[in-house]
Amino acid sequence: MLCFVVSVLTIQVLLGAASPLESSKAPKGCLRLSTDEDFPSAEAWKSALPTVIKNNNTVNVGPDYRIQVKSASDVEKAIKFAKDSNVRLSIITSGHDALARSTAASGLLIDLSLLKGIKVHESFTPTTQGEASVLGQKANVIVPKDGIQAAVTFGAGTTADTLYNALHPSKLFPMTAGHGEVSVAGGWGQFGGHGAFTHLFGLGVDQWLEAKVVTAEGLKIANKLVNPDLFWAIRGGGGGTFGVVVEATMKVYPDAPITGFNWWINATAPTTPEGKKQFEAATAYVLSQLPELHNKGIGGPTYAVAGHALRGFTMHYGNESGTVKANAAWKPVLDKLETLPGMTKFQTRPYNFKNFKEFYDTTFGMEDEMMKKVKRDLFKRHGPGAAGSMPKNYGLAAMDTHLLGADHLKSPKLMEQLSKQGNSWIMIMAAPRPGVGDIEETSVNPSWRKAVVHYVGMGLPSTVRTVAPEMGAYGNEATNIEPNWQEAFWGSNYKKLVDIKTKYDPDHLFWVSPGVKADYMSVQNGRLCKVSSPPAVKATDTAPITDNVTPAQVSVLIERFGKNELIGGFPAPGKYVGLQS
Ligand SMILES: Cc1cc2nc3c(=O)[nH]c(=O)nc-3n(C[C@H](O)[C@H](O)[C@H](O)COP(=O)(O)OP(=O)(O)OC[C@H]3O[C@@H](n4cnc5c(N)ncnc54)[C@H](O)[C@@H]3O)c2cc1C
Repeated sequence: MLCFVVSVLTIQVLLGAASPLESSKAPKGCLRLSTDEDFPSAEAWKSALPTVIKNNNTVNVGPDYRIQVKSASDVEKAIKFAKDSNVRLSIITSGHDALARSTAASGLLIDLSLLKGIKVHESFTPTTQGEASVLGQKANVIVPKDGIQAAVTFGAGTTADTLYNALHPSKLFPMTAGHGEVSVAGGWGQFGGHGAFTHLFGLGVDQWLEAKVVTAEGLKIANKLVNPDLFWAIRGGGGGTFGVVVEATMKVYPDAPITGFNWWINATAPTTPEGKKQFEAATAYVLSQLPELHNKGIGGPTYAVAGHALRGFTMHYGNESGTVKANAAWKPVLDKLETLPGMTKFQTRPYNFKNFKEFYDTTFGMEDEMMKKVKRDLFKRHGPGAAGSMPKNYGLAAMDTHLLGADHLKSPKLMEQLSKQGNSWIMIMAAPRPGVGDIEETSVNPSWRKAVVHYVGMGLPSTVRTVAPEMGAYGNEATNIEPNWQEAFWGSNYKKLVDIKTKYDPDHLFWVSPGVKADYMSVQNGRLCKVSSPPAVKATDTAPITDNVTPAQVSVLIERFGKNELIGGFPAPGKYVGLQS
């Protein structure tokens, strides 16, 4: 707690040092702050947006106003007011974004958490006029037809747990994040989105059939037939960038029995140099086996705990479920593992569930307390309800991520780099299996399609990325100091995303960093300003520093740069941060 308070104070000091606290007008090309004399008055806010709430935040540390919208037309009015008043705009649904992209340091926050309503479809065919709004609608129950793709239309405020509970009576389930409070159509569904069965049914971006999006120009239907470029862009380009998605239609899947399979094995002498070497050899062996398991239709995390234990938790669906099949899938690998020098006997524990709801409600049957916490409550409540209180509203943790394919998992170079991480890391078999997903129809980094695992570490960017320089990183669980960020998050899709962003949001009304065209704006003395010409991006560049960083991010930056070298609290946009060696 104390540590947290110190972090918040640090931010306020750092930002405060650069804040123009005296009254002024916004310089040309810059957005207004509440300290500007021409900032809209409280009466102007209330008259344009009667339900708007004033946030009592310190200047430059949070949005000035927040509105909980209930319709697409509320969103249109809020966007128009922010645009006409030249104030910063941000969008929040669940507030889980660890890079603090769902709030800004000033302006208006549009809160989508009340956009609720669900309609289940036996099948869905997109039309040019789009599905009628389902906002306020109670979920119906259907009988899915064999071989016909069922779908669901839902309001953007719908979280993972609301959606799977609503689909359960229809014997269907959705792709969602593992954490039940993450929204489905927001950051998760727009920047990738992995979940329990993405290896079988694709990423969040693969699930879309239609979206209703309020862009800077107004409400638009986006599907294969109408505004297909916008539709492609929100399927991977990231949240908070192209407009506000108010409703989504996504694919859903037949319920089936599921097995959650836990296994673990310890090193006998991890603290001795010989024991460490043996543990690393055993780890390298397990990693080399993941591509084959993934190909067989198994997904889930394998992780190392502080260099003394290897653990795994995998999910087995439908025909692959059941204790016998789960044991059979892992037994050859685990049998071999325990014969390797320096390893103890392995243990396993399977949990069998009748359906997806039972599986999700019981934390997937995970044995490990740490992993359960991540799934259930470690980061609990940092969402809409907390928008007026900054501590809860800040981001969460300094994470690091990189996608790795079969060759990388089999390369001896991988263990060399993992060894530098203190042997605590997670490799999640979350990438779709080869051929799974709407590959060409999405704008997510194409390296997801060659990946087997999504590596997750904590803290500074690790040298694991040097093992797979051609692969990308997952922008929702990334470090905000990812080198070569445009390439890392979107690969060859970046250029087309820039063109679509320019078409739908020429004035940069929507801005998040990292985000498409983030380098067309920069934070100057605590306010967001257009840059006259964006710098040519070099392989060493990092995304522009956002105007609402997290305490965890600040501490990472301080660790790297030292307090005195930070400019206005942060390194100059684009300055190379370097890799942890
Ligand atoms: C505890 C926890 C567990 C997680 N588990 C997983 C996981 O299993 N798999 C996974 O892939 N990721 C996971 N994540 C990461 C998660 O995908 C991201 O945090 C994601 O950004 C959350 O999206 P959100 O809309 O719920 O959050 P928010 O913070 O509300 O929004 C995230 C971003 O999307 C924008 N946005 C939100 N809603 C909309 C909208 N309707 N239209 C346009 N822009 C919008 C926001 O402006 C922001 O930029 C997890 C995160 C946490 C904290």
